[in-house]
Amino acid sequence: MPPIPHIFQIAIDGPSGSGKSTMAKRLAKALGIGYLDTGAMYRALGYAALQQHIVPGDPDAVEPMLLETDLDVAFDGDRQMTLINGEDVSSFIRTPEVSMAASDISALPAVRLFCVERQRAFAEKHSVVLDGRDIGTYVLPNAKLKFFLTADDTIRAKRRYLDLLEAGEKVDLEAVLHDLRRRDEQDSTREMAPTKAAADAVLIDTGSMTEEEVFAMLLHYCEQYGCGS
Ligand code: C5P
Repeated sequence: MPPIPHIFQIAIDGPSGSGKSTMAKRLAKALGIGYLDTGAMYRALGYAALQQHIVPGDPDAVEPMLLETDLDVAFDGDRQMTLINGEDVSSFIRTPEVSMAASDISALPAVRLFCVERQRAFAEKHSVVLDGRDIGTYVLPNAKLKFFLTADDTIRAKRRYLDLLEAGEKVDLEAVLHDLRRRDEQDSTREMAPTKAAADAVLIDTGSMTEEEVFAMLLHYCEQYGCGS
């Protein structure tokens, strides 16, 4: 009988700008396993709502929209494409407006169930790293290894600001900090699956660490927990 493949899941949670997406991508590549950016799914739905002039926080308008919406992810090498009704919307979902819409729409329980069902189906098939807010607490409570990354909000805002500038967005640092605080507050106080470290998560403050230092630390834990390559 062929050996049963060893499937494991790694959760990386944390607020915006904590470095979780960068780390999740790098870790998946280093370990040769799958990767899913779950925030992109909420962003894509927030974008779809804005496109249809639907208020993202209005359950009476969003719930019928979900019935008409196909949400999927596909990969071009290791680049995730997030598809709404077959259209790749990845290049439209990183703006400050869509970030806020994603936070508003993600607070709706129907939206969370819609996304979580797809996230769990993705994580069932092969070893994966998922990054998000509620992966360790709600989506994959049995993940083999859980990380919760954080950093002071001014440091996270600066990182987000530089990312947006690099992407060609015209932004103001104060406005980025303001939006990030609003989103942090909303994401961590919503009723269903708020941003929260799982009791068994490894907490890492990335504020005074370089990207390489954080990555080395995560890899070290992966090796210790038998998730090494
Ligand atoms: O991680 P990212 O900033 O792309 O996420 C965008 C928004 O999606 C977050 O502000 C949060 O409201 C929502 N989100 C969530 N649960 C996740 C991932 C993201 O509620 N697992």
